[in-house]
Amino acid sequence: MDYQQLIEEVYNEVKSANPRGKVADYIPELARVDPDKFGIALVDLEGNTFGAGDFEVPFSIQSISKVFTLTMVASIFKDKLWSRVNVEPSGDPFNSIAQLEFEKGIPRNPFINAGALVITDALTSKFDDPIAEISKFIDELNGEACIKINQEVMDSELKHSERNTALGYFLKAYDNFENKVEDVIKTYVAHCSIEMSCVDLARSFSFLANDGYSIYGKREIVSESFARRINSLMLTCGFYDEAGEFAFRVGLPGKSGVGGGVASVMPHKFSIAVWSPELNEKGNSVKSIMALELLTNKLKFSLF
Ligand code: GLU
Repeated sequence: MDYQQLIEEVYNEVKSANPRGKVADYIPELARVDPDKFGIALVDLEGNTFGAGDFEVPFSIQSISKVFTLTMVASIFKDKLWSRVNVEPSGDPFNSIAQLEFEKGIPRNPFINAGALVITDALTSKFDDPIAEISKFIDELNGEACIKINQEVMDSELKHSERNTALGYFLKAYDNFENKVEDVIKTYVAHCSIEMSCVDLARSFSFLANDGYSIYGKREIVSESFARRINSLMLTCGFYDEAGEFAFRVGLPGKSGVGGGVASVMPHKFSIAVWSPELNEKGNSVKSIMALELLTNKLKFSLF
C-alpha cells in the first residue's frame, strides 16, 4: 500500500469538494485560527511518516487530550477506574449537566467533559504537578518532545469555564471528586490547550495501533487488553453524539476535538491524524471526517 499516494489523493479530493462548517467560537481564542488549514499525517508501525497539507502545523488538540489522560490513568489505576466513570455512549452534548444529575454523578464515559474531569481529578490526586506529568507522558508516546501549551487558548478557556466548573461541583456533590475543583479545572484546561501537529498526534497514537506497545520507546504503555478497551471507547464514544455516524461512515476508533483535529487508528496497521478547524453542528471537523471516510473507502482492508 502506497500510503503517501493514498493520503495525497484523499487530501486533493477533500480540497476540491471543499465542504464547509463553522470554527468553534465558544472558547473565543479558538475562533482566531485560519479556517482553511487542512492537514493529514499517517504513521505506520515501522514509524514511517506520510503527510499532506498542513500536517506539521501545531493546533489546539482540545478533547483529543482526553485519550492521553485516560491512558495515563489506566496505566496507574488499572481496573479501579471503572467504578468512577462508565463506558456507555452518551447521545447528549459533551458538556451536559442534566445527564450527570440523572446518572447520579457517574459520568457516562471518559470522553465527555464530566468523565474527563474525573480522570484529571485522579491524576491530580496522584501527582504534585499533573500537567508536567501529562506533558512528559505525551512526549514519551510521541518518541520526542513535542508539547507546547498555548497560553492564550488556556486563559481564554479558563475565563469561560463556568460549565466545566459546574460539572466539577456536581461531581463533588456526588462524592466522585477528590480535589479542589478550581485546581482540577486548571489542569484540565491546560491539557485541552496543548498544541500538537497531525504528525505528532499520529505518532502519539501509534501505541493504540500496536496493542498498547510503543514503537518508539519499545515498551508497553498499557496492556493489550487495555489498548483494546481504549479503542472500543473511541469507537463508541469518541465523536460526541455523532459516534454512531462516524463508526458507520468510517469504521475506525478515533477521537475528535473542537480544535478540528481527529486522531484515529487502524489497529495493526497505522495511526492517522487529520486537522481542519471548521466543524459541523455536532462539533466534529467536516473535512477531517470526509477525509477519513474517503481513506477507509480506498483501503483494501478494514477493521470489520
Ligand atoms: N476544553 C474543551 C471544553 O471543555 C474541550 C472541548 C472538546 O474538544 O470537546 O469545553
